[in-house]
Amino acid sequence: MKTKLKLSKVKVIRQREISPGVFVLSFIRPWDFTAGQVVGLAGHENDEARLYSIASGELDEEVDILYNINPDGKLTPWMAQLNTADNLWVSEPFGSFTGDEEKAWWIASGTGIAPFASMFRTGLFKNKKIIHGGKDLQSFYFHQLFEPELNENYIRCSSRENGEGIYHGRITKYLREHSNLPLDEKYYLCGSAEMVVDARDILIEKGIPFDNIISEIYF
Ligand SMILES: Cc1cc2nc3c(=O)[nH]c(=O)nc-3n(C[C@H](O)[C@H](O)[C@H](O)COP(=O)(O)OP(=O)(O)OC[C@H]3O[C@@H](n4cnc5c(N)ncnc54)[C@H](O)[C@@H]3O)c2cc1C
Repeated sequence: MKTKLKLSKVKVIRQREISPGVFVLSFIRPWDFTAGQVVGLAGHENDEARLYSIASGELDEEVDILYNINPDGKLTPWMAQLNTADNLWVSEPFGSFTGDEEKAWWIASGTGIAPFASMFRTGLFKNKKIIHGGKDLQSFYFHQLFEPELNENYIRCSSRENGEGIYHGRITKYLREHSNLPLDEKYYLCGSAEMVVDARDILIEKGIPFDNIISEIYF
């Protein structure tokens, strides 16, 4: 998504390709934020910014951004070329897709796992269940973070590849098969419009109150 925001210059301190075409870019944290919020990023001060979730914790010194290259896009192919000490333009953080201490299901497709990584790194992981959908076994970003703490409450769904501990099928299949979804817990959905809309429909069909479903669509 493109949007006009007031931007300030930051310097890239690190850029890592964590999976083919998927990067974590880091810069020193210039502001406070609430886990789950987004920032606008751009290559130049007057460019329209694209929105990205912050993937690092509220008290971390560095801000991490998880993104994948969109080959037809303007920003991400350029961003992937950045090196340490290069400039990037960033907005202040904003957004209301924020987590809390309550029991909840964190449901993400692809890079939609980023806000949950931020909530997790902020310490909000108790009473949480993560369901992450990925196209292949390399798409479960931050699994080293989630797996040791959440164990069986960390579920990786892939319909294309089989692997140890991987649920074979999409997030929507997993949710449909789950016969007793708790009605009094919160369900956070983040990622592609297709996943968010389909998962939301299934949750509503299963009796989850509309107010317990909180969504962030990446477009
Ligand atoms: C709230 C929110 C949070 C998000 N968080 C993340 C995140 O954490 N990580 C992440 O990876 N993504 C995230 N996104 C998605 C992200 O903002 C971008 O959409 C994505 O990275 C594409 O950026 P880009 O500059 O490469 O592509 P863009 O240049 O924005 O292009 C996007 C598409 O539009 C088409 N397009 C571009 N210009 C034109 C034109 N002139 N005419 C016709 N078509 C055109 C391109 O073909 C391309 O397919 C988020 C989105 C939202 C709304």
